[in-house]
Amino acid sequence: MSSNHFDFLVVGGGSGGMAAARRARKYGARVALIESGKLGGTCVNRGCVPKKMFWNASQVADALNDAESYGFSPVAPEFHWEKFKEARDAAVLRLNGIYERNLDLDGVQLVRGFARLLGERRVQVGETVYSCEHLLLAPGGRPRVPEIVEASLGITSDDFFELGEMPRAVAIVGGGYIAVELAGVLSGLGTEVTLILRGERLLRAFDSMVADALLEEMGQQGISVVTGFSPARLQKGADGLSLVSEGGHVECGFEKVIWAVGREPNIAGLCLEAQGVQLTEGGHIKADEWEQTTAERVYALGDVTGKLELTPVAIAAGRKLSDRLFGGMKDARLDYENVPTVIFSHPPIGTVGLSEDAARDRYGDSVKCYTTRFVDMYYSLARRKVRTAMKVVCVGAEEKIIGIHVFGRSADELIQGFAVALQMGATKADLDRTVAIHPTAAEELVTLK
Ligand code: FAD
Ligand code: NDP
Repeated sequence: MSSNHFDFLVVGGGSGGMAAARRARKYGARVALIESGKLGGTCVNRGCVPKKMFWNASQVADALNDAESYGFSPVAPEFHWEKFKEARDAAVLRLNGIYERNLDLDGVQLVRGFARLLGERRVQVGETVYSCEHLLLAPGGRPRVPEIVEASLGITSDDFFELGEMPRAVAIVGGGYIAVELAGVLSGLGTEVTLILRGERLLRAFDSMVADALLEEMGQQGISVVTGFSPARLQKGADGLSLVSEGGHVECGFEKVIWAVGREPNIAGLCLEAQGVQLTEGGHIKADEWEQTTAERVYALGDVTGKLELTPVAIAAGRKLSDRLFGGMKDARLDYENVPTVIFSHPPIGTVGLSEDAARDRYGDSVKCYTTRFVDMYYSLARRKVRTAMKVVCVGAEEKIIGIHVFGRSADELIQGFAVALQMGATKADLDRTVAIHPTAAEELVTLK
């Protein structure tokens, strides 16, 4: 057998590809991983990791603003974007190195370069052709840029992480994860932020109570939210960038306009057709519940499949696939239901399971919701008052919990444990008989009336 023939060939060294490759090695498979960019993919280089560092910086700014209310002498902190960026980039570089060492320690062969499919599970990288028994496609996604006039004057989240200095005034187009996260971070650090929504609501896929609570809080924080604005054109003038809507309305005076209007699969140049890999109507790689594509022994997972674009999902799907292919676990596959997620807004949203609307669509009148809104004790001394919102969605006479939604301080950390309870089939009575931990925000979830 040629030294370029492997049991498992993985395209993409991001969250999904790395996890699948390393797990396959654990079972003794001969594995190679092909990566054209930096190891760690979107999450490490231009996603979760640098974003969370920004979010942390913004949390620090909040705390400094509250310091005087807690008895500290007044502080007038100045944020040095360049200094922060230098430290952040160094931390990401360390992670790139750790990822490479991990592959090496596990015995995964790393191939640097861009993969092109040739068919029959053969893949060309530069001048070399590799072949394999099983081929995994995990090339991830990239930011979408709307097809409007002069869209290229705007930037994407990828470009945002490269900015060398803090922008003075920014418009962010979109109302999903990236838009609300960047809006909170930038506003917290001192940029003037305008959020441009094409509809009336942000975070449309999420429970309306937490989405509305965030919208209200953004107003308190001084973020301008423009609704019903579908951009038709971006233009540059003496006062900076202006957005013109389909209806002719103009929003102007921006130093940067950030497109946060979703992501698309990273498949250009991969030559999927050579391997007979088909796409969904939305242009993602078609992969069934076993991550099997339309080509034999060719699999796809992570963002390129458009299922759930989250790092732990790509990792879990990758590990399960390798458990099945090389670990003898013939039923191993990821269950995409009840995946918890956090939106790192200001404050964050933690959520798992069905929103109230989705639950009512599915179960009708047998749905019962418990809600609460309160000001977290942290703010009792602070000048600003941020109201936490919580909702537990239950179904049936036994009040099985099918959704938990939290907006507020600590929501990011508390939701993981409650997601375990939901996953295990907890009922409202289980919450009621759990003794509260005082004084916390989480205790409100076990004392709901
Ligand atoms: P990727 O991580 O994108 O990896 C794909 C890799 O394949 C890339 O390294 C790419 O260079 C490589 N590649 C592509 N084509 C080829 C080719 N032909 N040949 C060789 N190599 C190739 N998720 C969370 O869970 N929590 C968060 O807080 C979070 N924050 C985010 C913030 C932002 C701004 C963004 C954009 C995303 C965020 N995500 C977050 C989503 C998360 O980053 C993705 O879901 C995850 O990275 C997907 O992993 P993947 O393996 O599918 O793809
Ligand atoms: P999302 O799918 O979350 O949101 C896209 C937003 O863009 C929606 O509000 C949508 O509006 C709006 N939109 C779409 N097209 C247009 C258009 N032509 N003009 C104006 N607005 C438009 O995508 P993101 O880019 O925010 O994030 C991509 C994915 O990355 C997320 O879905 C998530 O899975 C992942 N991610 C996860 C994070 C986390 O875990 N914390 C953080 C960041 C990203 P409408 O609602 O009207 O459709």
